Formats: sequence, structure tokens, C-alpha cells
Amino acid sequence: IPEYAFIGRSNVGKSSLINMLTSKKSLAKTSGRPGKTQLINHFIINQEWYLVDLPGYGYAKVSKSAKKVFQKFITQYFKFREQLVCAFVLVDIRHKPQPIDLEFMQYLGENGVPFCIIFTKADKLKPQAIENHVEDYKTVLLETWEDMPQYFITSSSKDIGKEEVLDFIGELNSNMIIE
Ligand code: GDP
Repeated sequence: IPEYAFIGRSNVGKSSLINMLTSKKSLAKTSGRPGKTQLINHFIINQEWYLVDLPGYGYAKVSKSAKKVFQKFITQYFKFREQLVCAFVLVDIRHKPQPIDLEFMQYLGENGVPFCIIFTKADKLKPQAIENHVEDYKTVLLETWEDMPQYFITSSSKDIGKEEVLDFIGELNSNMIIE
């Protein structure tokens, strides 16, 4: 089953986005070790794909050693996930490009992990400001990459971007079946 990973800084709106994407009730949470809080959660969607909920990075209030544990989990995940089709990196649309997010995208790129950007909390900005912030991201990313990665503008509170993300995943899934 193809997998899609969702990751971003803590508080970026990941839980809200996952709730928005999975509100169809076809959702079942899978758990390797019942009773334990999982660092990595898998959700199976429509029997078609796994949504992988990865721990947030960039916690301000977490100790260095805890950060290391998280980092290790994340890097191990990306190392061994053969089913991973695409990682969605969540970015708060309100902020200018942040080094930690750019570094993480760099890491994915260097390790050959395909990724897209999901801008979150779009309801908090006016359309013009959204456009400006996306342009800022383009400018920075095109210094490193040949193309701007595929991106989505979303708001979980206003239910924006849901179909775009789900259609994109559906399309990738159907391409995989044909091959
Ligand atoms: P996580 O830590 O990345 O899982 O973030 P959460 O989903 O818990 O969201 C963090 C905070 O941002 C919460 O207070 C949410 O209510 C808020 N939030 C998340 N998504 C949106 C959004 O699309 N619009 C607005 N206005 N607030 C949001």
C-alpha cells in the first residue's frame, strides 16, 4: 500500500489538517504497539493508502536529547520506507521561509525523498499576502532547486485545499496501479 507522510514544525496545524483530510469516516487507526503512545501513527484511508503522521520537528521547549530521539525516528523512517510515495511538508503560510523548514526540505532532497509543500492556516492571511509569502518561498527554494515543488494552500478551519490534496494523492495512486 502506498504511503504519504505528513510532517512539519510543532503547532503548524498537522493534527487539524489530518482531521480535515480524514473526515470521511473511512478511517482506521493502526497501531503497532497497542496501549503505547506512538511516535509515528499510521492511518489507512479507503483501503487505498496510508497516511503517516510523523512527529513534529522544531519543538522550542524540548530537551536536546529528546530532539535527538525525534530526529532519529524521522531519519529512520525515511531511510526504510519503501512504500513512501511523497512526503508533505507542512509550513505555516503566515511566516517567511524558516531555516528549519528549508533545512528539512534540503534533507529530503538530498535523500531522494519526493516532497510537496502544504501551506497551512491560509484563512489567517489575505489573498495578496498569501501570494507574497508563496513567492518568498519560491525565491528561496529556486536558489537550491530547479523547480518549485508542488504545493497546496490549505486551511483546516475553513476546509480549504482538502480536495486538491486528496485528488493529488488519488492521482499518484492510480498512476502506480497502472505501472
Ligand atoms: P500540530 O501541533 O501541528 O498538530 O497543530 P494543531 O493542528 O494542533 O494546530 C495548532 C494550532 O493552530 C491550534 O490552535 C489550531 O486550532 C490552530 N490551527 C490549525 N489549523 C488551522 C487553520 O487552518 N486555521 C486557523 N486559523 N488555525 C488553525
